[in-house]
Amino acid sequence: MVATILVGMLCAHLLCFSAMFLLISKRLHGKKMGMDFFALGNLLLGLAYILQLAEGGPTWSAVSVINHTLTLASPIAYWLGAMRFFGHMVPLWRPLIVFALMYGSAQVLVQWSLGPTARYAMLAAMSSLLFFLMALTIIHGVRTFAKDLYAEMVFFALLISGICVLNALKFIKIVDGGLDALQMDNSFQTVFYIYMSSLATILPPSIVWLVLRRLTDDLRDVAARDPMTQLLNRRGLSEALQLFFNTRTTAPAYLLLLDVDHFKHINDTYGHTAGDAVLCHVAQVLRTTARRGDLTSRIGGEEFVLICLDTDEAGVFRLAERLRAMLEAQIIDIPESTQPLRCTVTIGISPPFSSIAELEGAMRAADAALYRGKAAGRNCVQAPLPLNDHSALDAGKPGMLAHETAPTTAQSC
Ligand code: GH3
Ligand code: MG
Ligand code: MG
Repeated sequence: MVATILVGMLCAHLLCFSAMFLLISKRLHGKKMGMDFFALGNLLLGLAYILQLAEGGPTWSAVSVINHTLTLASPIAYWLGAMRFFGHMVPLWRPLIVFALMYGSAQVLVQWSLGPTARYAMLAAMSSLLFFLMALTIIHGVRTFAKDLYAEMVFFALLISGICVLNALKFIKIVDGGLDALQMDNSFQTVFYIYMSSLATILPPSIVWLVLRRLTDDLRDVAARDPMTQLLNRRGLSEALQLFFNTRTTAPAYLLLLDVDHFKHINDTYGHTAGDAVLCHVAQVLRTTARRGDLTSRIGGEEFVLICLDTDEAGVFRLAERLRAMLEAQIIDIPESTQPLRCTVTIGISPPFSSIAELEGAMRAADAALYRGKAAGRNCVQAPLPLNDHSALDAGKPGMLAHETAPTTAQSC
């Protein structure tokens, strides 16, 4: 009686959350994050339990074959939904239909050759195997595709392992005690359905939490990035730098300010689309040349910033010179144009700085160096002014701030 009530509640939960997943998937235009697959998974399992209630106990009928097939099709739909959530465009209906046909045939074969006990044992064994594979996939995900969701994935793996263990125990009980093990009034069935009912309550809100987290992460990412080059924008740059200084207070950073030379001329000669292609090219070279952990950003029209973290002055100058030389050497592919196009950049370097409050100062110092690089003929790397050189400032030109220390490396203009 208790187990029957629990199965009834389980059905209600599954169907309500199926409707909720469907509504959420309708709101997520385009990128549904697997919500439609989860809705179907819940619906299939809810229908399977309704059929189980209708059957009353173990029987051999078409309804029972459909019930077993739906019971196993639902974790497959969840698994495919999880793949969708992690960005794999897997199909839904074809694998489910193929599985349904194969498992339906397997049930007929097992029923006729080994009898009803074997068919019910096969359901428990297959459920256990499917949830075991699911738990393994999640554990693999913690180290690969779902690193950012560590706690959530461990939580899911634990819950799913519980279903795997309970189904394995059910399999052993059926093999030992025959179909009597499936009587709804025994204590194992009560524990089984209490667990399943609890999961039907806990898992759907947890999945909604995952979707919410992904959406807010995506929103934050959109707000922090330049849409054309996908590099950080000013806001993203200062947030990322703040994060770095929060965790690593001792290591100084260096700021490289890059400006494309005669970019207006490129736009005027080759057109705005070619200009955009040049910006994307510079962004790509910046991304591939920067070391892991460095921050790359587009802060304005044709101005880029690279913040080098965990390095020394000599390393920064080597990197800047490598960037400059690479950009000078490479031919840029312009869509619908056969004319070879190259661009050069001038790079101003800031003195080292160690806090987010010094970012503006570092930017001004790098800008002053850039200004001198432009005046010196462009296509060069320019160091910040030494501390005691006040002539530029006296002459009204931008220069280093008084508190900043000067690197000893010479400029490469
Ligand atoms: P300099 O060598 O002194 O840096 O000269 P410049 O021509 O590069 O500098 P200027 O600041 O005069 O020109 C920048 C141009 O960049 C002006 C503007 O029309 C163009 N620009 C700004 N944003 C974009 C963009 O997103 N795409 C394209 N194609 N052009 C842009
Ligand atoms: Mg400029
Ligand atoms: Mg320019």
